[in-house]
Amino acid sequence: MLSLLTRALGVQWPTRIGPTRIGPIGIAAIAALLSISAYDAEAKSPWFKSIPWFESNWHRGPIAADLEAELGTLHYATAPGIAAVALEAEARPATVSRSLRVERGDTLMGMLVKAGIKRQEAHDAITALSKVYSPRKLKPGQEIRLRLTASGAAGPDHRLLALSLQPNVERDLRVSRTGAGGFAAESIERPLLRLAVSADGTIENNLSNAARRAGLPMPVLVEMIRIFSFDVDFQRELQPGDSFEVLYEALFEEDGSLAKTENVLYASLTLSGRRLDMYGFTPKSGVDDFFDPEGQSVRKTLMRTPVDGARLSSRFGMRRHPILGYSRMHQGIDFAAPRGTPIYAAGDGVIESAGRNGAYGKYVRIRHNATYKTAYGHMSRIAKRARRGQRVRQGQVIGYVGSTGRSTGPHLHYEVLRQGRQVNPLKIKLPSGEKLKGKNLESFHARREQIDILRELARQGDTLMARADCLLPAAAAGTPDGGAC
Ligand SMILES: [Zn+2]
Repeated sequence: MLSLLTRALGVQWPTRIGPTRIGPIGIAAIAALLSISAYDAEAKSPWFKSIPWFESNWHRGPIAADLEAELGTLHYATAPGIAAVALEAEARPATVSRSLRVERGDTLMGMLVKAGIKRQEAHDAITALSKVYSPRKLKPGQEIRLRLTASGAAGPDHRLLALSLQPNVERDLRVSRTGAGGFAAESIERPLLRLAVSADGTIENNLSNAARRAGLPMPVLVEMIRIFSFDVDFQRELQPGDSFEVLYEALFEEDGSLAKTENVLYASLTLSGRRLDMYGFTPKSGVDDFFDPEGQSVRKTLMRTPVDGARLSSRFGMRRHPILGYSRMHQGIDFAAPRGTPIYAAGDGVIESAGRNGAYGKYVRIRHNATYKTAYGHMSRIAKRARRGQRVRQGQVIGYVGSTGRSTGPHLHYEVLRQGRQVNPLKIKLPSGEKLKGKNLESFHARREQIDILRELARQGDTLMARADCLLPAAAAGTPDGGAC
């Protein structure tokens, strides 16, 4: 087995998942499979046959075939996280599997009874589950899987054998019958693999199309826009031929499918040949931020676009008012966005006004410092934590796009006030954020080097792995944790 593993580690495994490059999942997945310990006498055929990981084309080849042959002799063993899969594949005619979906207002008890399980049985299973998970945390849409005895499948004689659910991507919960007739619950950490993923693309017509072609998940695109929203006016500055690169952390299932995206580690935009590189870093202050290669924070005192994915629909200056019908000064800028789109505080500050305000409709004004204030109008709703007198952080949600007050459709009316007077938000020169110094700057440089290595590894994903947890330990500039890698 060991020699096989050595060979496996030496081999080049092509792993391209869609247009996004990732490092091979194979090696770590093998490590996970080799560490199997649980014994499942019920599985009668090689359990790995039911794991899509072994079925996928990119692992087919002499090595994979060898591994199958080798692992075939271990067919009685199964990894804890895979037990459920194996069991389902093995479901004998005597049992049936059912999947329930939590609806609003459902209780687990109610759902189980409705599924034909006797009240006492349901109660015992829920009591066991409660030791690892509170059933009150169930959310609408969540899936609960049951294994039942098949006798009288439609009638009241169902006997619950097992219940499983996945409260989050990292964990499986399983309640199964014990020999004594009761139930026991276990919480199984799912063997997910954290990898750094690199994606890049060139803009043909717009950023979201380019992002889709590059296989960039939506949360990563949104985060990238936020990172650059201080420096880039996405409406006016983005041209065909401009390009982007992003490196982000993501958790993958054993079959190579994406379980969850996590932090963006690095983002780069090239606009008309001008390249902007931004590295994620947490300085001693503990506030996550993005910095240019010299350690200058991207954060400005104010964001240019305090709402995601919005289209600038009306500029600052004289215009014919759409409702009043005559020309007047437009004291801010308008961003068209769907009703309910979150609006962010453009900078740190204190809420000076929050509530209805005539033609502005539902309105919030933030005082940032002695010079600047920002104001937000026509909201559908003001966030609960955006009350008068409250402190807000830059990027905190203060309300949601709407069309209250004198407005023709859902949009954010955004004003920047300097010394109490409205100025053009697109024209003001904003003081920049923190510049890293001393120990912070040293740590940042070390982090930047780690990220650059990861970028390179992820980009060459055909041959090398980019295990994010190996190269990027939690501490900003600590040493890689050799034990786990
Ligand atoms: Zn307006």
